[in-house]
Amino acid sequence: MTSPTSMRTGMCGEVGPADVGTKVRLCGWVARRREHGEHLAFVDLRDRTGIVQCVVDGSVELRTEYVVAVSGVVRRRPAGMENPALATGEVEVGDCEVEVLAAAEPPPFLVEDRADVDETVRLRYRYVDLRRPRMQANLRLRATVVGAIRRAMDRQGFCEVETPLLWSPTPEGAREFAVPSRLQRGSFYVLPQSPQIAKQLLMVGGFDRYYQIARCLRDEDLRADRQFEFSQLDMEASFVTQSDVLGFVSDAVLDATEAATGERPPPIAQMTWAEALDRYGTDKPDLRIETSLVDLGEVFAGTGIRAFAGPCVKGLRVPGGATTSRSALDALTARARSLGAKGLAWFRVSGDAGGTLEVDSPLARVLGDDERDGLLAAADARAGDLVLAVSDEHRVACRVLGQLRLELCGKPVGEGPHRYVWVVEFPMFEAIGADGHPVAAHHPFTMPHPDDLDLMATDPLSVRSQAYDLVLNGWELGSGSVRIHRADVQARVFSALGISDEEAESRFGFLTGAFRYGAPPHAGFAFGIDRLAAVLAGEESIREVIAFPKTQSGADPLTGAPKPLSASALAELGIGIVAR
Ligand code: ASP
Repeated sequence: MTSPTSMRTGMCGEVGPADVGTKVRLCGWVARRREHGEHLAFVDLRDRTGIVQCVVDGSVELRTEYVVAVSGVVRRRPAGMENPALATGEVEVGDCEVEVLAAAEPPPFLVEDRADVDETVRLRYRYVDLRRPRMQANLRLRATVVGAIRRAMDRQGFCEVETPLLWSPTPEGAREFAVPSRLQRGSFYVLPQSPQIAKQLLMVGGFDRYYQIARCLRDEDLRADRQFEFSQLDMEASFVTQSDVLGFVSDAVLDATEAATGERPPPIAQMTWAEALDRYGTDKPDLRIETSLVDLGEVFAGTGIRAFAGPCVKGLRVPGGATTSRSALDALTARARSLGAKGLAWFRVSGDAGGTLEVDSPLARVLGDDERDGLLAAADARAGDLVLAVSDEHRVACRVLGQLRLELCGKPVGEGPHRYVWVVEFPMFEAIGADGHPVAAHHPFTMPHPDDLDLMATDPLSVRSQAYDLVLNGWELGSGSVRIHRADVQARVFSALGISDEEAESRFGFLTGAFRYGAPPHAGFAFGIDRLAAVLAGEESIREVIAFPKTQSGADPLTGAPKPLSASALAELGIGIVAR
């Protein structure tokens, strides 16, 4: 129950049969008004908790979205007039007096969830949009999530520390927003992509368990799951190993999930990056989908079928997929090619009355009996299933089938259950870049796997790192790593990345310099709160859990930002605008 204030005794959505006979004063917006004859009006009054029907004797000048205070007495609705669709539908407020607190222009769209409104219009009038029950619920859920995370971190002995927004470049690899300095013309601050360096400095500073609900800014193209600015739970701890960090963060996300949904997911499983690729064809496996990739290498080891002559053969069972039509299978084959496969083999599985499985496929004629049986057994196929197979380089076969798995068997990200997974042992380097040096998969302060240190100079792409990701329902929620705290290891990583001593000194010298004064072993993590809240709210887009998001093109239709600065403001900053 929400406590009363000097202006109201309670909340619209909380009035119920227990209040019958009580005098109340409620405040809110007029959701709807209906005249009943000349001297009776029904006013649906809305606040953030819901709607209650108020019956007004006499006439009042009211329009929708007027802000009013209504005083009256709670009574049961007459028999047969109850409204089961409304939480307060058994009662109404009678004998009402209405005081208009503020008049309102007609709203640009209906304040209800069913209204289908263009997003730019919603954002232009976000203050009206926020009154809708869906947005009210989403932002409250977000606050619940943040509250649970804070409590979990506090309970585990973490100290919340704020780090600067006006900062210097950070090594996350994204484009940065720059802020001109007025006092030092021609110099710029950078808005932090993350508090990465600051939190490592806090470790050197002895804050051995730090966290922050941190705002991060990245000047990157916007998508459903990406905004220029986003919030993350950012944490770092000293004298810990990877498993300690995974434990701290698991507690926080499981607590948050339970607080938001009422259900606590099971303890979070771990899998290596190599296993994720091999079984799910991605480093963001969606474990809600029960089927996974299988290895068909042994089945087709000595095959004469040309299509299976590639270095690796992987298969995927699509449960119930046998009804897929020929034309849909042709389209699927084209899709597999567009994803990089040379082709796609398919097998529609049916069963006869005796339970023997039959296979329908363009390859059926050339498929040996052993191969057919081996394929069905390896894929664990049953009558009614479709089995797909790709033969190619391991990485290609896995990625193609992994993507088809999502497209054929996937569900919207927000649909339960909530399946978390830790993906560990990411490769240290992603690929060889244009300059011939490997590109860091995480950031350059990530500690290589201790067994792989010597491979750094000889075979960088096979070096594993002590970096890990947290994945929820196929969405990457965040990443982290054990950090390098030893100058010699850091020098080897910088050298593998092709970062010269001078460049390292000028970009990160203030961090490596701090390490000379006693750096504890440390590790950390960060995960996106917008993403977590969106999944838990059952939303596809993080914009639905952000009060004032930007559009896809980075604009804010409400304020008009970004806008030109006045000539005098530019002059003060020493900035001239150059035409493109
Ligand atoms: N700074 C990293 C990020 O924002 C996370 C981490 O390594 O702690 O992605």
